[in-house]
Formats: sequence, C-alpha cells, structure tokens
Amino acid sequence: MHELSLMGDVLALVKRDAEARGFAEITRVRLLVGDLSNALPDALEMAFDMYKAEGTAMLASEAQLALELRQARATCVLCGLDYVPERSAAAAMCPVCRFPGGRITEGEEFKVLSYEGR
Ligand SMILES: [Zn+2]
Repeated sequence: MHELSLMGDVLALVKRDAEARGFAEITRVRLLVGDLSNALPDALEMAFDMYKAEGTAMLASEAQLALELRQARATCVLCGLDYVPERSAAAAMCPVCRFPGGRITEGEEFKVLSYEGR
C-alpha cells in the first residue's frame, strides 16, 4: 500500500511547517487527490488513521483528513475535444476519433491544499 508512504511524506511536510509556526497539534489536513494520482481515497484515510493512532505525526486525537477529489480530464490532440478519460484505459482515448494519446489536463494532482493546527 504505497498510500502509507505517501501519507507519511505529507504528514512529515505538514509537521515540519506546523513546528516552525509553533503549533502543538494538527487538527485538519486538506489534500487534493486526482483520479489519476494512483492514490486511493480509502487507503489514504486508513493511512491517516494509522499515523494518528501511532502518535508521531503531531495529529490531534480528533484530527481529520479532508480529501478533495478531482476527476480526470484529457484533451484530444487530434480534434481538440475535452473529455473525461476512462479510468480503466491505459491511455486516454478520445470518444470521438478514438485517438489513444489524449493529453491529460487534470487528475494527476496530489498535494496538500492546507492544514489547520493550534
Ligand atoms: Zn479526438
């Protein structure tokens, strides 16, 4: 489950910043997670709870993970159509001209939007 190491990286980053700002605890972490980021929301939630239980990430006992999910989008390089690529497909395929090399414009995001602490 690579979400565990992903979440570990996120929380280490947030913790470093929270420490620098003089926070004692982190109460909320907001993440932007794209459909194509290869991070599963359920696994991220599970990883967050594990780190919270472990008690090393400065997370308050009531700390929450807020996930903002973003749907994938692609633009066809042949006809210019903006579409939602099939999640199961290896490459984005245009539903009109069937060209399988769509340029991904959204959905690969994985980043911390904000966090709250005290
Ligand atoms: Zn097309």
